[in-house]
Amino acid sequence: MSGILEGKRILITGVLMESSIAFHTAKLAQEQGAEIILTAWPRPTLTERVARKLPKPVKVLELDVSNPEHLAGLADKVREELPTLDGIVHSIGFAPQDALGGGFLDTPWESVATAMHVSAYSLKSLTTALLPLMQDGGSVVGLTFDAQFAWPQYDWMGPAKAALEATNRYLARYLGDRDIRCNLISAGPIGSMAAKSIPGFTELADTWNQRSPLKWDLGDPEPAGRGIVALLSDWFPKTTGEIIHVDGGLHAIGA
Ligand code: NAD
Repeated sequence: MSGILEGKRILITGVLMESSIAFHTAKLAQEQGAEIILTAWPRPTLTERVARKLPKPVKVLELDVSNPEHLAGLADKVREELPTLDGIVHSIGFAPQDALGGGFLDTPWESVATAMHVSAYSLKSLTTALLPLMQDGGSVVGLTFDAQFAWPQYDWMGPAKAALEATNRYLARYLGDRDIRCNLISAGPIGSMAAKSIPGFTELADTWNQRSPLKWDLGDPEPAGRGIVALLSDWFPKTTGEIIHVDGGLHAIGA
């Protein structure tokens, strides 16, 4: 039986550890028939080591998504491996420590600006950097943590995710005429590196144990990966500007 990504070529950012949502996305994408390429920051060698656990060998390119030179050279580097792309996965988030963990009222603009640049604006810059490879349409998928709410400890990542969600809608608006769909998965909490860097993350995660209609497993990034693969496939052909929750249903529950 052929997979739902058979014949598709996909660039995936954000594989850092096996706990990365992007690692599970890469694994599922290969299992579903895609040819993939990874980008990594700050240590491509670490990503290469983790990538050896994928079903098939994969090339890793260095990419700091806030570095204009890296972005300018990206399409040419990808082209050396894959002639075109059908999909992009943006699985990148970062905020300096003083932008997280309860100091919201005192965070300096410089730290907020870094969070916004790396976590939100980069969805636009990554996508436009790769547009030359997406002449025949395609699918861009990013990851948010529901920005409708003010979460404990999440602080300036909240406004950064709100900006990411709005950026996704504008990308959908501007890229629809090229048949490029832009969507986000709104994932529940997963115990990845990014999550562990948020002081008090377990307090946040505990909300899921108490309120999620479906049982939620903090240690399992695969459901989010499955959502991403579905959005990369041909099975959401007329969906763009959308945010699909893979959060056990918590977003729908009031109290
Ligand atoms: P992760 O730590 O495994 O991945 C985050 C990635 O961002 C890392 O690979 C890191 O290298 C990358 N990154 C940071 N700065 C970068 C830069 N300047 N250039 C390029 N890459 C950079 O954690 P994850 O949980 O898999 O996070 C992936 C995405 O999912 C993020 O957008 C995150 O906000 C989002 N998300 C995570 C959770 C969660 O609870 N873990 C929930 C919802 C959404």
